[in-house]
This record gives sequence, C-alpha cells and structure tokens, in this order.
Amino acid sequence: MAQGRGGIRGARIGSGPMGESERGELAPRTAVSFWCGNGHRTQITFAVEAAVPPTWDCRNCGLPAGPDPDDVPVAQGSAPYRTHLGYVRQRRSQEDGEILLNEALAKLRGTI
Ligand SMILES: [Zn+2]
Repeated sequence: MAQGRGGIRGARIGSGPMGESERGELAPRTAVSFWCGNGHRTQITFAVEAAVPPTWDCRNCGLPAGPDPDDVPVAQGSAPYRTHLGYVRQRRSQEDGEILLNEALAKLRGTI
C-alpha cells in the first residue's frame, strides 16, 4: 500500500494543530476501504485524526461506497451513477440534523 499516492490529495487545509508536514511521512495515517454495491473496493488513506466520511464514491463506477462490505450504501434507482437528486437525497438526513442543530443553537442564543 505504499504505492497508491493518487492524484487526489484529501488533506484538509489548516486542520493540523501542529502545522504538520505536508509530506505525510510524519503524520500517522490509516487506510480505510470502502465497498460499493458492485463489489469494488476503494481504499482511501486518511490522517488518523481526520474524520472519515461515512460514504465515499466508488472510483470504479461512482456508486456510493461504505466501509462495511456487508452493508454497502444502496444507490437509489437503477442508474449506475448518482444523479444530482441522489446526492440531495443522501444529504437529506444530514441537512435535517443541521436544521435541528441550528434551532438548538438559536435557542441558546435567545433568538427564538
Ligand atoms: Zn464500484
């Protein structure tokens, strides 16, 4: 797994509290594998302190992939690639959560 230094760098800018080297030799890393509904495995390397997303788009076919091969995210409909609507649906619950969070914050601030 020493190879795979792909074209996409997933580093979050400005998240390193200690200004860690961008080279990656010093920062501890962990490889996380995501499986899509077609059985493809996409391995992503994250810094250990980075938040690992619950899903990742398969590099082979674009389907949503999850870290558990026995519980892969189910793509809506039959389209192999996610439609824009698919992304909206995927985000829906997260947005609902954000709305609740914002309401809670607003209450704390006394604006409701
Ligand atoms: Zn795939």
